Amino acid sequence: MGHSDEAAPAADATPLDFIRTIVADDLAAGKHRGRVATRFPPEPNGYLHIGHAKSICLNFGVAREVGGTCNLRFDDTNPTKEDVEYVDSIKDDVTWLGFTWDALFYASDYFEQLYQFAVDLIRADKAYVDSLTADEIRAYRGTLTEPGRNSPYRDRPTAESLDLFARMRAGEFADGALVLRAKIDMASPNMNMRDPTLYRIRRAHHHRTGDAWCIYPMYDYAHPLSDALEDITHSLCTLEFEDHRPLYDWCVEHLIQGARPRQIEFARLNLNYTVMSKRKLLQLVQQKHVSGWDDPRMPTISGLRRRGYTPESIRDFCARIGVAKKENVIDVAQLEHSVREDLNRRAPRVMAVLQPLRVVITNYPDGQVEHVDVVNNPEDSSAGTRKVPFSRELFIERDDFREDPPKKFFRLSPGKEVRLRSAYFVTCTQVVKDAAGEVVELQCTYDPATRGGDSPDGRKVKATLHWVSAPHALDVDVRLYDRLFSVEDPDRSTEGGGFLDFLNPDSLRVQTGCKAEPSLASARPLDRFQFERLGYFCVDRDSAPGALVFNRTVGLRDSWARIEQRG
Ligand code: ATP
Ligand code: MG
Repeated sequence: MGHSDEAAPAADATPLDFIRTIVADDLAAGKHRGRVATRFPPEPNGYLHIGHAKSICLNFGVAREVGGTCNLRFDDTNPTKEDVEYVDSIKDDVTWLGFTWDALFYASDYFEQLYQFAVDLIRADKAYVDSLTADEIRAYRGTLTEPGRNSPYRDRPTAESLDLFARMRAGEFADGALVLRAKIDMASPNMNMRDPTLYRIRRAHHHRTGDAWCIYPMYDYAHPLSDALEDITHSLCTLEFEDHRPLYDWCVEHLIQGARPRQIEFARLNLNYTVMSKRKLLQLVQQKHVSGWDDPRMPTISGLRRRGYTPESIRDFCARIGVAKKENVIDVAQLEHSVREDLNRRAPRVMAVLQPLRVVITNYPDGQVEHVDVVNNPEDSSAGTRKVPFSRELFIERDDFREDPPKKFFRLSPGKEVRLRSAYFVTCTQVVKDAAGEVVELQCTYDPATRGGDSPDGRKVKATLHWVSAPHALDVDVRLYDRLFSVEDPDRSTEGGGFLDFLNPDSLRVQTGCKAEPSLASARPLDRFQFERLGYFCVDRDSAPGALVFNRTVGLRDSWARIEQRG
């Protein structure tokens, strides 16, 4: 793990939301023997996404702030969808986010105990084996407006249920032939309390328990008891579990003596222009709409990491959005704002040209090379300066030149003078075109007196361009990302392919033949930079020696700051 506490958000930076208020009140009242214990309980059926980051920051954050503990627990009760690949990625992501679990558990660690608890319930006449088919059970359950009906097997003798349950475990029955149900209330207005299923028969290989079990506990049964077995005090979950809370309480009340965990629900994170359900993310991966779970367009933690997000920026985002009871949709611009702020502080500036246009400085001696000093990060004076080679042939951005400039175009055009960042003033003297009339080269003159980018005679220029020395330039590829979906709420459609109909066809643009300053030669995957005037970029792991690939994390323009200013 090796993550120091310095990497974590300061405790006092987090205002008291309603959950932290409850925790503080419980501590003050001496509840739970003065302890606080939380857990983050992912199901290992996919990679974690930014919504999970909210839950992680909350669970680990609350515990850390009050000197409590937080466990990582895999809710691995549904073997058909789960995989060790997901377990490993989840551990990686939590660690990368800067959190350390106090203990690591799997719900499958408790299978034997959960089975014994179920036997206890049957003995206490609180559970029974039902022989109805799945369809019949559904029909008996009733609707929101009509009460359900008791199964004809509801009052089968305890001894018979005990015998059948043991034989379910022993593998004597086919999948789905029998289930174990809680005996609660078929007339309850809460459908979850109408004799919910606790165990089902499913012959499926489990990634940890192998073929030891052919019956598996339901989430609503395994979850509260896992919490209780770990002595969790505050079981934080999303709002969709609010209706399940009576069942949560029923399970712990009937099986656990003494201190019991308390479930508290909060609103899940919803983000616009993306989808967040693991089922849909899996579909994007399996149908190859993206390159994998860590495709930089995905809202997954691993995708954001590959995109160039820092753990600090994600934690900052989670702190800013806060925790509340009310559902809302967060603008993805707010996430971008957090990473931009963080990278502004920490990312070294470099020069790279995405669409190169050759410039020849006609009065610069052929074969001469000088090294100009360029500031690494104006936001961080400790970052110092570096030497960047300057020579007679350079590249500038094609967009930085217009042959017929419109009125407010202050960059380069025929006869105009501009500054090359930290180097010299140059004036465009001639435009060279190919047979098709396309501009292929600019000829310029430079003013040797402006070395460093300042004019001793106080002459002003209206633009400062970034540039790269042509003979020294590295050839790099750049991947420019846009939103994965072209509408704010891709989930709204239920027709046909649904959300897939709203995929943005231009979410990835690959720009080859870009030119970067030579200092980038030593860059390694995940290194982050600001390309001056263009945005924040990070090195992709698809890079090879001499063939760097960069992902654009985010552009420089902050649409969220503008939204906030407008208020
Ligand atoms: P999804 O609905 O995206 O498939 P899930 O709820 O099935 O996710 P779990 O692995 O069960 O995924 O989630 C682990 C924890 O993360 C749960 O406590 C869950 O409430 C929380 N969580 C999941 N999605 C979000 C979200 N969008 N915002 C906040 N918390 C979330
Ligand atoms: Mg879930």
